Amino acid sequence: MKKRIFLLLAMVVFFSLNLPVSSLAWHDETHLAIAKVAGYYKWYNAAGPDIAKIKAGAIEQHNHYVNNPPGWVVTPKQVMDQVERYNQIDETGHLYGAIAASLRNYLAETKKGKYAEYHLAYCAHYVGDLSMPLHNTEYDAFNKKNHSELDGIINDGVLDHLDKIKIYPIAIDSEESLVKEVVRIANLSMELGYKLERENRLLTKDEAYSQISHSASLFKAILEYAGKRKAVTE
Ligand SMILES: [Zn+2]
Repeated sequence: MKKRIFLLLAMVVFFSLNLPVSSLAWHDETHLAIAKVAGYYKWYNAAGPDIAKIKAGAIEQHNHYVNNPPGWVVTPKQVMDQVERYNQIDETGHLYGAIAASLRNYLAETKKGKYAEYHLAYCAHYVGDLSMPLHNTEYDAFNKKNHSELDGIINDGVLDHLDKIKIYPIAIDSEESLVKEVVRIANLSMELGYKLERENRLLTKDEAYSQISHSASLFKAILEYAGKRKAVTE
C-alpha cells in the first residue's frame, strides 16, 4: 500500500513537472503544411522537434516560445541575446534565438560537408511556432486555457487546403536580415495574441491561415538563403 502511494506521488510529481509549460505548438499537420508550402523537400520532418520534447524535456521545450509581457516590443537585440540560450534551460523561452541558432548550425555543418538536414528541420519547426500568437505571449490564464485549442484550430484538413497559405516575397541575404524578419513576425504575432486575450476569443480560421502564411513565407526565404530551394522537386 505504502509502495502504491509512493508510486502515485511520484507520478503526480513527474506529470506536474512535465505537463505543457508554454510548450505546445501548432499541431503536427499545421507544421507540415507550413514546411510543404515553403517548398522544403523534407517537409515531413517539420513536426520532429515536438517529438524531441518528450525525451529532451525543457532543453527542447524552451526553444519553442518566448514569454513576452503585454506592451513589449521585440527587438533585434532580444533575438541575438537568445541565440546563445539555444538548447538551454530558460523558462522565459528563446524561440527567436532558436531560429537563428538552428540555421547557423545547419550552415556550419553543411560547410563541413556533414549531413545537416535535421538542423534545418528544427529551423522549419521554430519558424512555424513563430506565427502562433500564444507562443509570443506570457503563459497566463488565457494562454493556458486556450493554447491547445488554438494549436489545433486549422489542423484538421490543413494539408488539404495548402492553397489557403499565401506566400509573399521576403528576401534574406544575411543573419541580420533574417533577424529583422523574425522581429517583424514576432511583434505582429505577439500583438495578435494580446488582442485575442483582450477580446477573449480564439483565432478565426482566416487569421490562422494568415499567421501561418508568415511562417511559410519566411521559411521559403530561409531555404533560398540556405541554398536549399533549388533542391525542391515537388
Ligand atoms: Zn513547437
